[in-house]
Amino acid sequence: MTPLVHRARMGWKDVLMKRRRFITLSPLIAVGGLVGHSLGRSLFRRAGKNSPHLETASPQHDSDHQPIVRWSRSIPVRYEADIAVIGGGIAGVSAACSAARSGAKVVLVERFAITGGNSTTAGVASFCGETAGQGEVFDEIVADLERFRAIVPYRPFPVGGSRVFDHEILAIVLQELTLRRGIKLLLHTRFVDVRVVQSRIQECLLCGKSGLEALRAKQFIDCSGEADLTRAANFQTIKGRPEDGLQLPMSIMFFVRHVQKSERRAQLPSGWLDPVRTKDQLPMTSLWPNGPGSTALKVKVPMFDSTETESLTAAEIRGRRRMMEVLDYYQRVEGKSWILDHCSPQIGIREGCRIVGDYVLTVDDLRAGKRFDDGVARGVYYLDAHKPDDEKRTYVIQTEKPKRSWHEGLEVPPYQIPLRALIVKDASNLMAAGRCFSADQLALSSARVTTSSSMMGQAAGITAALCVQKNCDPRVLDPEEVKKTVVERGGRLEV
Ligand SMILES: Cc1cc2nc3c(=O)[nH]c(=O)nc-3n(C[C@H](O)[C@H](O)[C@H](O)COP(=O)(O)OP(=O)(O)OC[C@H]3O[C@@H](n4cnc5c(N)ncnc54)[C@H](O)[C@@H]3O)c2cc1C
Repeated sequence: MTPLVHRARMGWKDVLMKRRRFITLSPLIAVGGLVGHSLGRSLFRRAGKNSPHLETASPQHDSDHQPIVRWSRSIPVRYEADIAVIGGGIAGVSAACSAARSGAKVVLVERFAITGGNSTTAGVASFCGETAGQGEVFDEIVADLERFRAIVPYRPFPVGGSRVFDHEILAIVLQELTLRRGIKLLLHTRFVDVRVVQSRIQECLLCGKSGLEALRAKQFIDCSGEADLTRAANFQTIKGRPEDGLQLPMSIMFFVRHVQKSERRAQLPSGWLDPVRTKDQLPMTSLWPNGPGSTALKVKVPMFDSTETESLTAAEIRGRRRMMEVLDYYQRVEGKSWILDHCSPQIGIREGCRIVGDYVLTVDDLRAGKRFDDGVARGVYYLDAHKPDDEKRTYVIQTEKPKRSWHEGLEVPPYQIPLRALIVKDASNLMAAGRCFSADQLALSSARVTTSSSMMGQAAGITAALCVQKNCDPRVLDPEEVKKTVVERGGRLEV
């Protein structure tokens, strides 16, 4: 039995009892965010108390003359793992599951009550792209959804561009999958900060209901969608389009119940908000099936920044207002017998920060259907780049009219995603997968979909587990080994 497998079979309680440690972090909180990289001043020591020490020294200001507060605190190292995955969306679940399948001991950290990310908490209930041959993790997710009769039948891409599923069922499918694989799942737990020594991540600082706790691991995978871990560690990230940083727009998903005509009524009280009165005043609004007696609506909410607290707050507020304004149009103007059932608890975020990896995948790579020596995942979906500064159905790439379909002119041939685009530049033991991987904005508009995000997650999980087994880091690993495992596990890489 290899040491890795041995540790994977140890109970979590044993691990905790034997290896409880404390770290001390001394963050400097300023308007610019948590400064994590500069914190690693030989910080290991046993702490008698776990009480914070706060200082508010009046002369202390950052370079922008903002007041700052310094604090230091000893934090228990509550978890030790081979691999830490931050973010439990489709990429994070796929990374954690594939690493666990390789025998690694994995902790998966998710800030909300359920895993699934955009596909559950944001209500985006459709898998776009090719849903067969994405690898065994995605196959298992689809097979479980089929068992629940919670996904539409398979049609190969591009005949079937997407497969609609029940997002409430997906939440239970993903939860059970992670537990079956022996992953330590931490819900309601937010990644907060990181301790880095030189280029190596040592621990992540987490905050759940038990308070601040640290997670130590050998390899880390950032699947937060917004590259939270990479940013906190002060490795390079980018966001938005090159000219002004504007990100692909967010959209809010909400769900209506169909009621009898006799129960039909408009819900927005008169005098509230700015209801839509004509069809051409509607923002981009897509209607989706949502099972019997229900319809899902997706409304575009552009011009907000998902990586900035106040902007994200404003986006959520704007999203719920738009929901009521659009609903009022359907109820009052079109006379639909719809009543608001619920709004997704989180706005759907297409783009946040992306890591800068050893390679940045470009739209030219996609258009060329590029094959890479270290190609470990595959994408096939259209360049689905909604214009960042327009609430109508407009795309960054203008296509000729008249169009036979919305994606005419936006197609790309199948292309590969190289392992180097998952490895954070200048970091030793940090990868990223999903919508925060290393790509330009147009390449991201295709590769961000769930199918390729899952493939990226799977590849990152396999890579991290191989690194643990071989006691090395992703950059020095032979990518052939990763490719071989991806293919053995049912991932199609051909382009
Ligand atoms: C409106 C909209 C429509 C879309 N339509 C489709 C579609 O039809 N088909 C399709 O395939 N794709 C679609 N996409 C794209 C797809 O949903 C995402 O790109 C995909 O979900 C990416 O998965 P991910 O795991 O990288 O990110 P996410 O799904 O965003 O998951 C990130 C996870 O990390 C967690 N997290 C973030 N920060 C922290 C932190 N600090 N600590 C702990 N946890 C954290 C989040 O809570 C979340 O669970 C759509 C996206 C949007 C927004």
